[in-house]
Amino acid sequence: MSHLFNHLPTAELQALDARHHLHPFTHGQALAAKGARIITRAKGCFLTDSEGAEILDGMAGLWCVNIGHGREEMARVAYDQMMELAFYNTFFQTSHPPVIELSQKLAELAPGDLNHVFYASGGSDANDTNIRAVRHYWQLVGKPEKTHFISRKNAYHGSTMGGGSLGGMAGIHAQGGLPIPGISHIDQPFWWAEGGDMTPEEFGLARARALEAEIDRIGGDRVAAFIAEPVQGAGAVIVPPDSYWPEISRICRERDILLIADEVITGFGRTGNWFGSQTFDIKPDIMTVAKGLSSGYIPIGGSILSDKVFDVLSGDEFNHGYTYSGHPVACAVALENLRIMQEENMVETVRNDTGPYLKEKWQALADHPLVGETRISGMMAALQMTPDKTARAAFAEGDGVAGLICRENAFANGLVMRHVGDSMIISPPLVITHAQIDTLIERAVKSLDQTHARLKAEGLMKTA
Ligand SMILES: *Cc1c(COP(=O)(O)O)cnc(C)c1O
Repeated sequence: MSHLFNHLPTAELQALDARHHLHPFTHGQALAAKGARIITRAKGCFLTDSEGAEILDGMAGLWCVNIGHGREEMARVAYDQMMELAFYNTFFQTSHPPVIELSQKLAELAPGDLNHVFYASGGSDANDTNIRAVRHYWQLVGKPEKTHFISRKNAYHGSTMGGGSLGGMAGIHAQGGLPIPGISHIDQPFWWAEGGDMTPEEFGLARARALEAEIDRIGGDRVAAFIAEPVQGAGAVIVPPDSYWPEISRICRERDILLIADEVITGFGRTGNWFGSQTFDIKPDIMTVAKGLSSGYIPIGGSILSDKVFDVLSGDEFNHGYTYSGHPVACAVALENLRIMQEENMVETVRNDTGPYLKEKWQALADHPLVGETRISGMMAALQMTPDKTARAAFAEGDGVAGLICRENAFANGLVMRHVGDSMIISPPLVITHAQIDTLIERAVKSLDQTHARLKAEGLMKTA
């Protein structure tokens, strides 16, 4: 049990953490008052904290640990690659075997003519690359006035200046002067919250046609691209109505704008296919990837470009790049991750076996008195909590009060289940077994029961 004693006591770690570490997306003083939960190790689908408690990782880290935690092959490949070539750059006409092999592999896995990769260290910087690549593309084809990006409210495309601006999160826009100019946001296809009296199909069409209206408002000759996640992840696992994506695709094609599918979460098996674009029959010009590309073992991201975009961009010097674009160790680790996924048939297992098994159990949670709807695509899912199912009502207390209570209950019950407002969301490792899915569901139900009891006891089951 050396791992339990091989670090400072929890309280000391928490105090040091509070003093010297500014956390992302966290209120520092609120965290300092409470103390961070300290995770010390993980194996498969389970985390262990500094007190020795075991927790089912229902979020696969942060939507990324697709192959599960603690795979020794990944560590061996990193070690071997560091000994062989720990770093060399890909600027100035140099390359190396891991980046070449990974690019070929991604071209093989990605659908259609998405055959070329520009590397970043994560999803945010890859989306920043997309802004520069797309604007440069239009410049090179002689339409330099096409610079405007259309995205969606409540989208998540990262938190750099570019990524945070492409995203449609009000909390991010409120800080640091975002969004940068040249980006606008249309409404999202979130039927539960915004669909009113329309059927989901009618609503999906209406929200897709908002893109056409926005192109008209900006001027078709000025719009460069539309960017969207096949399924909004951080926005609360919003699976669009079936009518949505075909209409979006039609509009992008007819109006001569590029389509960027942000596959940072939906890529690498999450929706039961290698890419969400296959699940939803989307034909993007560019795909953003990160997270599951390396299962989070090492930072790597990128933009996978179509022949059409690549052929234009490669006709000029692209004055853009990161020191770590195509980092050899990151590429080698990503390759090993993809090898493991293929060898163990993880994508097919999600599509044909564990995905349908989770779906049946997850959808049954809609019978819980606190749950208004369930949303699921492969191994990403949400539960919408509500004080009144038939009215699809929000809580009077405000968004996220019930969600926070439920998340705390889940953690105490040994399950990481995140909340976005009053949606509870999961995105477990793709290697989760039937028995572990049963455990996940049991702990989720217990957490919902406790949350419901507390909301009733405190008079919080009132509609807004
Ligand atoms: C996480 C995420 C990003 C940002 O990726 P980082 O690696 O955190 O920079 C971008 N897009 C989507 C859809 C994401 O979920």
